[in-house]
Amino acid sequence: MKARNFHYIKPASLAHALRILANADGEAVPVAGGQSLLAGLNMRLSAPKLLVDIGDLDELRGQSRTADSVRLGALTRHADLLTSDLVAQDLPLLRTAAPHIGHLAIRNRGTLGGSLAYADPAAELPACAVALDASLVLGSLLGEREVRAEDFFKGLFETDLRPGELIVAVKFPIQPAGTRVAFAELSRRHGDFALVGLAVVASMQGDRLDKARPVYFGCADRAMFAPSVAAAITGLRPPFDDDSAFAPAIRQDLSPDDMPGLRADTRLHMATVLTGRVLNSLSERAAA
Ligand SMILES: Cc1cc2nc3c(=O)[nH]c(=O)nc-3n(C[C@H](O)[C@H](O)[C@H](O)COP(=O)(O)OP(=O)(O)OC[C@H]3O[C@@H](n4cnc5c(N)ncnc54)[C@H](O)[C@@H]3O)c2cc1C
Repeated sequence: MKARNFHYIKPASLAHALRILANADGEAVPVAGGQSLLAGLNMRLSAPKLLVDIGDLDELRGQSRTADSVRLGALTRHADLLTSDLVAQDLPLLRTAAPHIGHLAIRNRGTLGGSLAYADPAAELPACAVALDASLVLGSLLGEREVRAEDFFKGLFETDLRPGELIVAVKFPIQPAGTRVAFAELSRRHGDFALVGLAVVASMQGDRLDKARPVYFGCADRAMFAPSVAAAITGLRPPFDDDSAFAPAIRQDLSPDDMPGLRADTRLHMATVLTGRVLNSLSERAAA
């Protein structure tokens, strides 16, 4: 199947792009890497009249650091997360997660802003953004506003983006010294979307877990912080010999649906196994 006919425009500046989007009466959509949008157009899941190509806008690029945060432009590609020294030093969670996103060709084109705007519940970067307590910088003709990642994801492919707004950048707070991160996912094949995934950011008090932010993906309608799991593991010392410390909390926080070929109970079991692995890898990092 092929996409319905559409018009295409490549604005020269962010201001130009925002003007086009504001004046399009809901008939225009931005395209960045095109790795999700174009597949959807070809399957005729949507049929916008105008594609606004934001993929070359300098204002959406760049990586910078202040004392408080790292700012990554919306056009940061998934592949950039694997080569950036800044990401390696200050955002190792993103570097760990990036190889799990699709395949090389997709990582070379797909962007951070596109992944967050698309809000696939099984995507890696929304979960990392929530775990790292990132804020999204959203631009429109009215100016900029910032929204915490946890508040940005509203449901299945649903976000807080308003008509005429673009994700301009994402700000990740600098984590306190000694913060540990871990990430893992279970998928049918490497590169597939996760059936169950988990990103954790945790500070340690000595060898005990403190202030953990576990965020599951692939098993709810959005990347989801798990408050009961966080409470259950606070103060505990990994490694965990069994899942008794956190398994009941997982059942409180997650209620996945059955999906074809995978029952909800199996997904909960997978989430439990994965949680043990991820938490134990935090302790290995602490020991290292
Ligand atoms: C075969 C295949 C496998 C994949 N596997 C994975 C995977 O395992 N994990 C994963 O996370 N992703 C996966 N993806 C999706 C990929 O990561 C996409 O790159 C990503 O979801 C969207 O980024 P993009 O830049 O390509 O966005 P686009 O496709 O250009 O846009 C996606 C949506 O976001 C909007 N948008 C884009 N940029 C902005 C912005 N700055 N502000 C506001 N709205 C914006 C667009 O209007 C559109 O609605 C896969 C894709 C394919 C084709």
